[in-house]
Amino acid sequence: MPEAVTAWIGLGSNLEDPAGQLQRAFDELDRLPHTRLAARSALYRSPPLGPPDQPDYVNAVACVRTTLAPRELLQALQGIEAAHGRVRAVHWGPRTLDLDLLLYGDRVIDEPGLQVPHPGLAEREFVLRPLADLEPGLDIPGHGTLAALLATCPSGGLQPL
Ligand code: AMP
Repeated sequence: MPEAVTAWIGLGSNLEDPAGQLQRAFDELDRLPHTRLAARSALYRSPPLGPPDQPDYVNAVACVRTTLAPRELLQALQGIEAAHGRVRAVHWGPRTLDLDLLLYGDRVIDEPGLQVPHPGLAEREFVLRPLADLEPGLDIPGHGTLAALLATCPSGGLQPL
């Protein structure tokens, strides 16, 4: 049996009861095989990153302990997204549920279709702030400390829900 790894997942939604989508997603993460939900952050409201003519997002992060390999975990996340009726129509467009694999232990992965740490992590306040709420001393492989990233990250109207 492989040893469990701590992984961090970013959650986002801006359609069809976003807060409800995230609450359901937390439960679904806890029910994934070989995985348990270790912590969930508060929910935050944030302005859209992509086209501005879409509703605000609700964002959060989850911490899981898992023995799934990184690709298996990504596939499991995509399964949860699909079950929430996510359709990839517009790049950075509105979505019922977006799940990003932010961190997988201290691993750095750069493969087609899977980059860890997640490429957007370092400059997204809606990821860094909830991560810091749960684990302020976290190190982001290849980027330095979470505290240093937060100090330089552009501040973009993030509000606790
Ligand atoms: P998105 O539209 O943000 O959900 O992007 C999904 C695409 O990003 C998929 O094709 C994934 O294979 C790819 N991807 C690469 N790295 C990651 C990651 N760390 N977490 C989630 N998706 C990733």
